[in-house]
Amino acid sequence: MITSYRMTPKRRFLSALFGGRVDRTPVGSATSVATVEQEEMTGCYFPEAHVDGVKMAHLAAGAYEILGYDCIMPVFSVVAESAALGCEIDWGDKENMPINRSSPWKEPEDVVIPDDFLERPTTKACLDAIKILRKTYGDRVAIMGKVMGPWTLAYHMHGIQDFLMETITEPEKVRLFLTKLKEITILFGKAQIEAGADVLCVADHATGDLVSAKTYFDFLLPLHKELTLKIGCPMVLHICGNTLDRMKYIAESGFDCFHFDSKVDAKDAVKEIDGKISLMGNVNNPEVLLNGNPSEVSEKVAYALRAGVQIVGPECAVPLKTPLENLKEIVNAVESFFECV
Ligand SMILES: [Zn+2]
Repeated sequence: MITSYRMTPKRRFLSALFGGRVDRTPVGSATSVATVEQEEMTGCYFPEAHVDGVKMAHLAAGAYEILGYDCIMPVFSVVAESAALGCEIDWGDKENMPINRSSPWKEPEDVVIPDDFLERPTTKACLDAIKILRKTYGDRVAIMGKVMGPWTLAYHMHGIQDFLMETITEPEKVRLFLTKLKEITILFGKAQIEAGADVLCVADHATGDLVSAKTYFDFLLPLHKELTLKIGCPMVLHICGNTLDRMKYIAESGFDCFHFDSKVDAKDAVKEIDGKISLMGNVNNPEVLLNGNPSEVSEKVAYALRAGVQIVGPECAVPLKTPLENLKEIVNAVESFFECV
């Protein structure tokens, strides 16, 4: 339903997250929309912006100040937890995101959360950034936090190949790992809410490109139900890749919204989710946002809007060289779409 009054980005975003009335579809992403151009415009560069809360907040605010999006999400990388838990990290540079270089936990017994986990450079920077953003933008823009779910933490901390193999050879070990890792998601998630996040994204990459829908159903769905209940705030699940075959389960997971990839057609996603939760996405990154032009962006946005996607935005963390004009075009395309209807 369309309202007759103009909404602030925050109200628009939160209403859409719960499938409610809006003045127009909001634009946003549960993953990073920072780019090299925004680093240059704000003077806040990677890799410092991963460990300095002030720089992180200023760069993240570009999502609203520069791109005109309805939410700000400062947790750019996927290494906040793994760096704080002792992984070796390749920190990248202003054109490359950091990546994990080691997976130190061999057995579930190795899972130990340090007492100062929330005080380590990466975790503290995220919490500081959320506090700053809440104070500066909390009255008008939705602030989103982001944590890794237990499945992704297992990829990082135990190693992706061993972990995936053990889902078949040692399922009980996998369950024990996930049960222990889940506590990290809850701890960091609750801390981000306390710092001022309106919404929390859980990134948990049980994608169809790596695991079956049955694996999601057996191992992860019960944990997602528990996580959403325990964390308790408005929540978004992010899984990139093809997830169509597990969307019926995701719709029952307790998340309010699913951030999905362009590998799933927007119409198929809307049909599969069946109105049970909202959808966010799914404008293609490599072909459309990075290498396409504004008219191609506009076409993909209109497709998602016609399909009924509630929040439109990039499908996943945008490549750092994505042109600003393509990212801004998402908002222009949404505005023009709603002027025409
Ligand atoms: Zn992703």
